[in-house]
Amino acid sequence: MVPSTTNVKSPSNPVAEEADSPDLVKSGHNSIQQEESSDGPSAIDDNSWSIEKARDLYGVGRWGAGYFDIDSDGNVAVNVPTESGPRSISMMDVIDGLHQRDLHMPVMLRIENLIEDRVRRLNMSFQHAIKEANYQGSFRTVFPIKVNQQHHVVDSIGRSGRPFGHGMEAGSKAELLVAMISVPSLESLIVCNGYKDEEFIDLGLQACRLGYKCFFVLETQDELELIIRRSRHFDVKPCIGARVKLATKVEGHWAGDSGDRSLFGLTTVELITAVDTLKSAGMIDCFQMLHFHLGSQVTNIRNIRDGLKEACRFYIGLIEDGAPLGYLDLGGGLAVDYTGTASTESHSRNYDLDEYCFDVVETIMNSMDAQNVPHPMIVTESGRWTVAPMSVLMFNVLAVTNFDPEPVPETLPENCSEGVANLFRALQNVRLKRLQENYNDAIYYRDQLRDSFRAGRITLRERALGENLYLAIVNRINSMLPQLQRVPAELESLSHSLSNIYYGNFSVFQSLPDAWAIDQVFPVMPLHRHAQKPTRKSIIADLTCDCDGKLDRFSSPSGEVVRTLDLHAFSKEQPYYLGVFLVGAYQETLGDLHNLFGDNNVASIRVTGDGTVEFVEEVPGDTIADVLSYVEYEPHSLLTRFRAMAEEAVRQKKITVEARRQMVQLFRDSLQGFTYFEE
Ligand SMILES: *Cc1c(COP(=O)(O)O)cnc(C)c1O
Repeated sequence: MVPSTTNVKSPSNPVAEEADSPDLVKSGHNSIQQEESSDGPSAIDDNSWSIEKARDLYGVGRWGAGYFDIDSDGNVAVNVPTESGPRSISMMDVIDGLHQRDLHMPVMLRIENLIEDRVRRLNMSFQHAIKEANYQGSFRTVFPIKVNQQHHVVDSIGRSGRPFGHGMEAGSKAELLVAMISVPSLESLIVCNGYKDEEFIDLGLQACRLGYKCFFVLETQDELELIIRRSRHFDVKPCIGARVKLATKVEGHWAGDSGDRSLFGLTTVELITAVDTLKSAGMIDCFQMLHFHLGSQVTNIRNIRDGLKEACRFYIGLIEDGAPLGYLDLGGGLAVDYTGTASTESHSRNYDLDEYCFDVVETIMNSMDAQNVPHPMIVTESGRWTVAPMSVLMFNVLAVTNFDPEPVPETLPENCSEGVANLFRALQNVRLKRLQENYNDAIYYRDQLRDSFRAGRITLRERALGENLYLAIVNRINSMLPQLQRVPAELESLSHSLSNIYYGNFSVFQSLPDAWAIDQVFPVMPLHRHAQKPTRKSIIADLTCDCDGKLDRFSSPSGEVVRTLDLHAFSKEQPYYLGVFLVGAYQETLGDLHNLFGDNNVASIRVTGDGTVEFVEEVPGDTIADVLSYVEYEPHSLLTRFRAMAEEAVRQKKITVEARRQMVQLFRDSLQGFTYFEE
């Protein structure tokens, strides 16, 4: 229609209009329904809802790796392996336990049993594949410390990896120091990647002198000269590896780690030069490892096979050229299925652990057998896969902004302006068959209303009345969209633009940096209330004053990444807790102090054989004094200055001495307080 300010289409004969072209309309839903505005008692009694539906909606069975589920009370449960079999605990019980210990939200929860289980599975699965294939070499894995450097985590990995000779990978001097004191036994490898200066090399050589198998993986040619010189100085035989640049390119976010332009590794020309240098130094027997790393989160198993095949050709070529080798290091890349779609989409993967192990063993075996080369020891550096599941970020919801209209008057208010009247009639006019047209009208009249306001023709109250009518129209249109078989393109984003904003007590920048920096999608779901239907399409905002401080990309049952998450109605009377899952890899030290929100609290738990939850470690988050000192304030002198300011006010008789005492007390307490909202 061509709208005019004076002539609004009347709601005449809507029945006749809806009768035709039934193919546009799904049967059985012909009435206009206002979206439920809360999921109060009616939703609890809703027979159409079930725990099973909640499982499907949030996909917990798809991404939970068997560790996470919803129990019959509607709480999120963690299934953990213990020494006497699997046990299940409720995350809400864990939250109660944390509160009893005065540890408040946001909390990064680490579940130790899950680290142990990952370490065990990775090793067992490779051992199994090796046995099945009758592979003649063995397997060792190293944990890349950069993926989670926290003391408690590295210690857990060392402890649970002891029976398997699980080692450590270091990419810097600091990480090497950690690796040296964390490898559980002389059976374990230490692999040094990254650029190395003299001190780095000297440190690694000390590990060799202590009897550890510590590899220097060459990233550049210069390093080799240094390694030769320093190992002569200490009179130790170094273990040398070389990282090669493969031509194989992988898909996904880390594609840049592979191919000719990758930042790391030696070109074939440099590799040959390194061989010659070692030969002329009489040290070719030290060249024991070939290393490559295709990048993290390799989503497609075919990329892994292709890269590995190429690497095997390098391995064989080096052996033919006189290098002894014996170790083939595949780096990381073993991916996590964050969306539960089992696809090559960048937050997923099209293979599982067993397939990975089997394919790796088979590919190496086929390549080596073809050239009669002995099977190498297989080394992997899987970080993400090992530690992602162990951590859950938990936080409470503080408030909700919604885009629901206020109640709309039944009849047109007397003497209202033309603009308001147009919107009022447009609301009466919403019909299933004309939703696009209704939407166009709503926008047109709303813009007209705003123009009138700018020109001084209507009052602020009239504008508010009109804006509310506009909201009522678009909400009504939105609630009717599910009845259409084809949703017009322009209306597809309506539910996102009307979604609620749930404000969570956390900082994306501090606790989920990858969600912001690389658009990582993490599974998010409420930690309780799953017996109730979640009726509120929502996004989640954090506490920072930054428009990037939000979570608005979620996996959905269809496998697509969608922009809203269904949440339960929020009321201030009842705490509402959300969890972000699979966050144990890469997140914990990349975080920053945006808006001076500091580290969240951290708690590690372990579930014992009888199902008891032990709180094994708690690390209180930063205080305000902590974060201020990170940006070079001296908390003590801040307090001194504040005292003086308040004293001056007393002198000028603006405040009493008692008021000053209270003020100074508050200032001092705040310095010792938590940077997040205190519950
Ligand atoms: C980052 C990195 C890893 C870890 O990769 P994941 O995909 O997390 O397993 C392993 N090796 C090297 C060289 C790395 O840079």
